[in-house]
Order: sequence, then structure tokens, then C-alpha cells
Amino acid sequence: MTNDTVKELEIFDRHISKKGLKHSQKRDYIITVFLSTTRHVSVDDLFQIVRKKHPEIGATTVYRTLKLIVSSGLAEEVDFDDGVKRFERKMGREYHAHFICTDCGYHFEVFDKNIKRLSHKLSEASGFHPKKHRLEIFGLCKKCGPSSPKP
Ligand SMILES: [Zn+2]
Ligand SMILES: [Zn+2]
Repeated sequence: MTNDTVKELEIFDRHISKKGLKHSQKRDYIITVFLSTTRHVSVDDLFQIVRKKHPEIGATTVYRTLKLIVSSGLAEEVDFDDGVKRFERKMGREYHAHFICTDCGYHFEVFDKNIKRLSHKLSEASGFHPKKHRLEIFGLCKKCGPSSPKP
């Protein structure tokens, strides 16, 4: 377990007790799985991993736990415009852009300090206080791009 994970579990625990919810082993297991995933997972992705070891945990529990993880501030919803809600871990991950292929769904992340700098500069210039940044760029990946030969 990394230092971040320990911190994240503490934050989650505090959030749970603040909400007046009881400690549950199922929830603990779900958040541990979520924190071990890299990148973007949908409720179904997470459910498929969880059920392998704990078939008694239902999709609804997974969904509710994910919502708790989001409201605790540990995860954020990302939308790739394909009707699937995905979630990503926030801690230790700087603001980044998502590039999404509209043809095959392939996506990747780009971490570049300039993106953040520019967003801050533009916000400041208009006296705007950003609460959440999101940058999603839709297009065609290398494989699907116009220059690639189609079979
Ligand atoms: Zn593609
Ligand atoms: Zn991301």
C-alpha cells in the first residue's frame, strides 16, 4: 500500500462516519479495488473485478460506493461522450487532458503543466474562480485517422 492509498483510505473512513454510515467490509474491499485501478473505470469495469473475488457484492453496492468515493473528493467523473460514466482517482494525479478517439474509443492522458498554467491565466484574466478543470479532446487516433489505410 502506498502512502497515498493510506491517506485515501483515511479520507474515505472520515467521509463514511461523517455521513453516519457504518463501516462495511464490502465497501472497504470496493474502495481498495478502485484505488488499485489505474486510469478510468466504469461502474461495470469495477463490478467485474469485484465480483471475481466477492460474488456476493452486487452492482448496486459497487455503484453506491463509487458515488461515496466521488463525494469524498477522492474520485472524479470523466465523460468521454459515449454514454458510459467513468471515474478516475484524483490524489497524486495532476490536472491532465484526455484525448479520446470517437471511432474506436481509445483514449490516453496527457500531463502538461502548460495546460494548467494557461487555464489559470485565462481564469484569472476574467476574474473567474475555477472549481474543476476538464479538458477532453475528441478526434481520431493514429489507427483510425484519415491517413491510415482502411482494410
Ligand atoms: Zn481509434
Ligand atoms: Zn484521466
